[in-house]
Amino acid sequence: MNERYLEVAGVKVSPDLYVDGKRIACTTTFENFSPIDQRSLGMMSEAGPQEVDAAIEAALRAFPAWAALGPEKRKAYLDRFAQEIGKRADELCVLESNDAGVLLSRMRHGVVPRAMLNLTHFAAHALTLQDRVIDTAQATHRVRHDPAGVVAIITPWNSPLMLATWKIGPALAAGNTVILKAPEWAPLTSSLLADCADAAGLPPGVFNLLQGSGANTGAALVADPRLSRISFTGSVPTARKIAQAAGANLVPCSLELGGKSAFIVLEDADIEQAAATGALMYRNAGQVCLAGTRFLVHERIRDTFVETMRMNVASLRIGDPREEGIELGPIIHPRQVDRVQGFVQRAVDAGARLLWGGRAHPYGAQYFEPTMLTSVQQRDEIVQQEVFGPVLTLQTFTDDGEVVALANGTDYGLGGVCYGETQHAADVAEKVRTGFIWVNSFGIRDLDAPFGGVKRSGIGREGGDWSFEFFCDVKDVMLPKQPFRASFSHR
Ligand code: NAD
Repeated sequence: MNERYLEVAGVKVSPDLYVDGKRIACTTTFENFSPIDQRSLGMMSEAGPQEVDAAIEAALRAFPAWAALGPEKRKAYLDRFAQEIGKRADELCVLESNDAGVLLSRMRHGVVPRAMLNLTHFAAHALTLQDRVIDTAQATHRVRHDPAGVVAIITPWNSPLMLATWKIGPALAAGNTVILKAPEWAPLTSSLLADCADAAGLPPGVFNLLQGSGANTGAALVADPRLSRISFTGSVPTARKIAQAAGANLVPCSLELGGKSAFIVLEDADIEQAAATGALMYRNAGQVCLAGTRFLVHERIRDTFVETMRMNVASLRIGDPREEGIELGPIIHPRQVDRVQGFVQRAVDAGARLLWGGRAHPYGAQYFEPTMLTSVQQRDEIVQQEVFGPVLTLQTFTDDGEVVALANGTDYGLGGVCYGETQHAADVAEKVRTGFIWVNSFGIRDLDAPFGGVKRSGIGREGGDWSFEFFCDVKDVMLPKQPFRASFSHR
């Protein structure tokens, strides 16, 4: 590989694209900043139409041989890819913490192990898809999951390594070749991932990396009719553009989008537990798609719940995400800080009351106090729109019908949390229109379970078989049980 490196917090990382097994430097570049202290982390190559074309050509060339390898040999490659991630775990942790502001401890204990599992788990799962047979009186149906072709993967900045591998794992395991478009506000771990793919010996063109803005690089990629699939995680406005581009070429796309999920606390909930979990909604400075950001609390327990959660929130430690013991880090970008502040200001102007927070945090320009707003109406912007920052709302209800109506009263439907007596909470949870909902818990993820949203929170599901349904062409090879006699009256 062409060795041109940036040095970020002692870690060497390439600023360039990775196409056809080679690093490519571009004349167009963009500057990448750390959210921790706004220092420049260096200039990154930005792919234009020529590099997008080169990546698609490389992926197309690599596709037939990769597809023909079969799942067992691909599993060996993906297991090696995961091992390479493991070898570079410390570097990946340091990079993503500096680049995206994710807690170093979370990178170590959560994200990197999960990134490895995203590759090994789906590689193993692909083996179970072979030779599924449906036997009927008429025929044996051999159901095949054939690789689809070249897959474009587009990821956001809030958890770049986890989200990239969550898609790359099943896409490659299924026999597709991949072009990853890294998020421009946090591109560094995607670049190191390309080094890991290279060290694992993935054949040239099987995994390619593009960098650059959505408007330039992303738009050129998703407009290309040679793609067979587009897998996107990001915001609703971007999803609309991608769906339009994909629609023009009839390329199937999977869309994992934003949320405005309910956090329901029923009258029979364990308030201590609910309040402790409630404080977790500020994780990653609230930049988590699946956080329950709308608290719906039974009127009778409202005051006790608010005071208990206030104590939990007051003890949160805010600061440099690289330091031990810190629980909340920075917001990704000054533009995002302004956006968060704007939401809070407009809500207060419209009559909302701050229970806590509401301002920039003294630790630094990109840090924001954990915030809770009450006296809000269901139609208010702050209740309806995703903030993607440490800002929550609190409303009350008096019966189950009302809380279900409030929970369902937005255009989103990604996650949800419901605290209460187990059966009661499960009954209420079943009535919430959402992709998934945790009862008396939060954040449990199993890679074989379906993940995705309803309404404006997305189209499609990822995880287990659902990932492969999307990344594969499902084909039925039919063998009749009786000798077939051609006849026009035959159905
Ligand atoms: P975004 O939509 O602005 O950007 C996401 C990616 O899309 C980036 O890589 C960007 O460069 C690219 N992009 C932008 N315009 C494009 C275009 N026209 N064509 C192709 N690509 C384009 O989102 P963001 O601000 O990076 O991320 C935050 C959003 O992501 C939030 O809404 C959050 O809820 C959502 N999210 C969802 C999930 C989920 O699993 N449902 C997970 C994490 C984040």
